[in-house]
Amino acid sequence: MDAKRQQLEEKLELQLMQAAHTAAELQALEQGDRVPHFDEIEMRDVHSMDGPIELTEPVAHCRRCRRSFFPSAKNAGV
Ligand SMILES: [Zn+2]
Repeated sequence: MDAKRQQLEEKLELQLMQAAHTAAELQALEQGDRVPHFDEIEMRDVHSMDGPIELTEPVAHCRRCRRSFFPSAKNAGV
């Protein structure tokens, strides 16, 4: 790897870490002193560098138990 490429990769890594810290600080300002409930955390939109991402989660239903559950990828036949 040439020196210029290594320099740019180190610069990118530093800037990504700075962006993550800034995002965490902004989130802390929004939250104040309270800890968000899981409902709130799970309702947040996920954004990539290309825009919002739609997350999907497989849900299965057991007729015997009459309950829905979330199978792991390991058991989902993936
Ligand atoms: Zn069951």
